[in-house]
Amino acid sequence: MQRVAVLGSTGSIGTNCLEVIGSLPERLSLHGVAARSSWKLLGEQSERFAPRFAVLEDIRLKGQIPGGAFSPRTELLFGPDGVARIASDPEVDVVVSSIVGAAGLEGTWAALEAGKRVCLANKETLVVAGPLVMDLAQRRGAQVLPVDSEHSAVFQALQSGRSQEVRRIVLTASGGPFRGWTSSQLDTVTPEMALKHPNWVMGPKITIDSATLMNKALEVIEARWLFGLRADQIEVVVHPQSIVHSFVEFVDGSIMAQLSPPDMKLPIQYALTWPERLDGPAPRLDWQTAFHLDFLPPDLDTFPALGLGFEVARRGGTCGAVLNAANERAVELFLKGQLKFRDIPRACRAVLETHTFDLNPTLTDLRRLDGWAREEVTRWIS
Ligand code: MG
Repeated sequence: MQRVAVLGSTGSIGTNCLEVIGSLPERLSLHGVAARSSWKLLGEQSERFAPRFAVLEDIRLKGQIPGGAFSPRTELLFGPDGVARIASDPEVDVVVSSIVGAAGLEGTWAALEAGKRVCLANKETLVVAGPLVMDLAQRRGAQVLPVDSEHSAVFQALQSGRSQEVRRIVLTASGGPFRGWTSSQLDTVTPEMALKHPNWVMGPKITIDSATLMNKALEVIEARWLFGLRADQIEVVVHPQSIVHSFVEFVDGSIMAQLSPPDMKLPIQYALTWPERLDGPAPRLDWQTAFHLDFLPPDLDTFPALGLGFEVARRGGTCGAVLNAANERAVELFLKGQLKFRDIPRACRAVLETHTFDLNPTLTDLRRLDGWAREEVTRWIS
């Protein structure tokens, strides 16, 4: 029996994760849940699973929650300390890190310090501080297992060979809602248009990132640190059906892929139960209905965010933290109607170019740069 804490349990990954846990009651039990402020859904999760702890990160909610909203078997905690507490609780075996954005770093860090298995859905953690995070995991004997579908596919395919036999990995990208569009067509994009993803149902931040291809850029950086590859060993191919989740090419030319319908329950379950595979709730491919799979090269001129990802993966150091923070702020402003769609990668490039590069930053340096890059985007607009 594995006892699980889910950080970000009310988001898209979090709710899928609870479905997986609910369907494997002999193997997985929910020990803790944490959300930023969605107390109603968190209360329902407490009623259904009776975890030992529930955390609301927004400390202003303390004293505001009506009696009876949570199971009497659940202790309700508040603030970031509560998140760190459940991430490092001695009774927890596995921590699912699915808080969106750079905000997910703290809980992941606490879990790794405590030597846990971390199922990482928060790619920003590795984008911001990849080398520091992987080094911490190694020192504490903690595991970092990918939940991101592409990285889960690579992780599964890597098991067909030895690490020194890998030539390159190829991450697949759906291409998002604007695949095949021209730059001038992209000038007309509104938040409503960008929030409609053809294949995946996800939160707003990652949906916008998928439309700009910044999501793939962040995934290139994530893969570089997670698998210890060079940037030139990572490629991206557009695959509109989102059924092949990624490829690994070995030195002999053999290519291994992982296929499944686009649904996050499979990569979540694999990270939770690895190295075992269990019969779970993920949907299956139907081979009795004809379908085809397409692959085409990405359009780097129309979607310059992807080029930024390769560049940042190559340079490392402070670049990931700066790109991530600039993008988070730019997406926020785009959703508020204060920034144009095509200005998201432009703002990110401008902020990257002005920042003072450091190859070996500390966590404190990265936190400071995170704040700086957000302000810099605001300045860039005016
Ligand atoms: Mg992904």
